[in-house]
Amino acid sequence: MRAAIMQERQQGSQRNSRQLGDTPPEEFRRQLHELADWIADFREHIDQLLVAPNDTPGAVRGQLPKHAPEEGEPFEKILTDVDRVIVPRMVHWSHPMFLGYFGWTSTAPGILGEILSAPLNVNAMTWRTCPAATELETVVIEWLRQWVGLSDEFEGVVYDTASVGIMHALAIAREEAAPATRKLGLTDRDLPRFRIYTSDQAHSSAEKAAIALGLGEENVIRIPTDDQFRIDVNSLGQSIAEDLRNGFQPMAVIATVGTTSTAGVDPVPDIGNLCREAKIWLHIDAAYGGGFAMLPECEWMRNGWELADSIVINPHKTVFVPLDFSVLYVRDLARLRRVFSLVPEYLRGDTVDAEKNYMDYGIQLGRRFRALKAWVIWRSLGRAGVVARLREQIRLANLLADWIKKDDRFELAAQPSMGVICFRFLGDAAPSPRAAGAARRRAASIDGNDKINSDIVERINASGRAYLTQTKLRGRTVMRIGLGNVLTTEEHLRKGWEIIRETAEAARPKSQIPKPKCQTNFNQPNSKRSKRD
Ligand code: PLP
Repeated sequence: MRAAIMQERQQGSQRNSRQLGDTPPEEFRRQLHELADWIADFREHIDQLLVAPNDTPGAVRGQLPKHAPEEGEPFEKILTDVDRVIVPRMVHWSHPMFLGYFGWTSTAPGILGEILSAPLNVNAMTWRTCPAATELETVVIEWLRQWVGLSDEFEGVVYDTASVGIMHALAIAREEAAPATRKLGLTDRDLPRFRIYTSDQAHSSAEKAAIALGLGEENVIRIPTDDQFRIDVNSLGQSIAEDLRNGFQPMAVIATVGTTSTAGVDPVPDIGNLCREAKIWLHIDAAYGGGFAMLPECEWMRNGWELADSIVINPHKTVFVPLDFSVLYVRDLARLRRVFSLVPEYLRGDTVDAEKNYMDYGIQLGRRFRALKAWVIWRSLGRAGVVARLREQIRLANLLADWIKKDDRFELAAQPSMGVICFRFLGDAAPSPRAAGAARRRAASIDGNDKINSDIVERINASGRAYLTQTKLRGRTVMRIGLGNVLTTEEHLRKGWEIIRETAEAARPKSQIPKPKCQTNFNQPNSKRSKRD
């Protein structure tokens, strides 16, 4: 044992003289150039990669050693393994044929912004621990606020995701509904059960927030939606009234501007008025739709925002900032500070009271310099560049919707909204809903068609030629495309639509393949055909 320790020490001291400290500058410079070329090549040739792998779980683990290396390895070797093991086993969200979720926000300037933050690697807990990071955060939050036309009564804070933003928003709502919860918690205080209302299309982050805040996921009440997947305000009002009669306390309503499945937009002004009357916190989840509110033609989406208490917008979904970057805006941000500010002695010396210390506005202490990448990308594109790119996404979404409408084997499952299109292959329920028996056939084939629609998505994704997602609307499986990648052109979309049509035909069960109308046998020109033919 002693000998082993001695030997380890001896080896350690030999290694130390060679290996302590950082990579020598010249070597680091060479590696950076190599990496720069790697990144530029990756971006230039990304369309030649498969969008997604077709591996089974464990495919990556199986290629890698079970134990961490004892001795350091050269960067070149690590980069080779990135090419060999990592890149082929990724879903390439930045690929032009990635049509899943809301598309993705990779751009060359966004990549530069990310790279630039790496060497700085600060911890922006307080203004003093990094004045530039703190002040730049305030600046970019303000730029976005102006771009989306939000009133200056709102100030914001950057978190990683909208899920974290909504949790912080509801923490303020909770504190205001049950004062002193921050100090005393919720138990043993004879409090009513608090309720949160949102639509049956809203994101599951509502329940996650209720779980985290001790409010209980069952107290998130899902309200039905209309034929455009917008919350039914009458049902909302009734639900609130019924809860009040039963001794519950309505605490918050979450309205969505750009729902996860169909990008539907709730009637925010009506919801806002209802919340004002009933003194209920209004949170707007504009994680997806918020960016589109920059477009003059989408200004209507901002209606009612002036009635909100908090709004979340995800620039990592629609304003071209690389993941992760989500902004929570709160009317009178001091309310958020009152819930979360807590300065331990070891940080007191590093806080300047007159300045914003972002650690005071949430659960997180350590905070990375997220604002830098937003600043780089927004300066690189400018407002006009962002708007033009979002407008192109809407144009492409409408184009695809037209193609779908023209093919009677498919139907739109929801009105296209922003960059999102939900649609469905009808299988043998097509083509004409007016044909005798079509309704019956249609009903009978719903289950089968759910499976076919799901199969189409799975087959396409497994092929690596394109990537899309599926969702359920009114209990039925539909395919879903989200456009967002700056590399996705009309040509890519056309190719994607071809792939969908081809795959749909291949996925159709044999019994559904329509017989050719005329079965002329050209080898026997005079052959007699029976009537049944
Ligand atoms: N809200 C909506 C409408 C969403 O679609 C999503 C995610 O897709 C979220 C919230 C959660 O976003 P995040 O991943 O930033 O937590």
